[in-house]
Amino acid sequence: MSVAFRLRCCLCRKNIPLAGDVIALDGEWQRRYPDMRGTLACERCVIDYGWNRCTTTKGSFIDGHVAAPEGEVDVDSWSHHLERGTHRALVTLYPHSGLLQGAEPYLRSLASRKGTLPDVVTRLLTALDEWDAAQRSTNTCRTATV
Ligand SMILES: [Zn+2]
Ligand SMILES: [Zn+2]
Repeated sequence: MSVAFRLRCCLCRKNIPLAGDVIALDGEWQRRYPDMRGTLACERCVIDYGWNRCTTTKGSFIDGHVAAPEGEVDVDSWSHHLERGTHRALVTLYPHSGLLQGAEPYLRSLASRKGTLPDVVTRLLTALDEWDAAQRSTNTCRTATV
């Protein structure tokens, strides 16, 4: 049995539709939208919040621009998508965002489940340790559900 969870989009904060993909965004998105909570977005937001070009009219990158992931042609917001996939796949790949955005019960169960790959367990436990430490050291209510 797998633990159900809902993921809140890092941009619109609404639950990402279960039928839709999740998109992981890179540092340029975080620079442009410092209020982003985590890095996992819904399909709608990557369109609504996307931008058409990373360069100025003179052709150089805009100030502070964070380079697109290696191997990507750096053109517009679509160059700054790290990964696209299912809810489960992406919270496992990006557990820090997963924890922040609502997947904590799922990630905890996955980390302790028999049959989870050892390198995945390691990644999850590292993220969970940091998450737990942050919970202890802060008064903000980061796990509040909407
Ligand atoms: Zn959204
Ligand atoms: Zn760019």
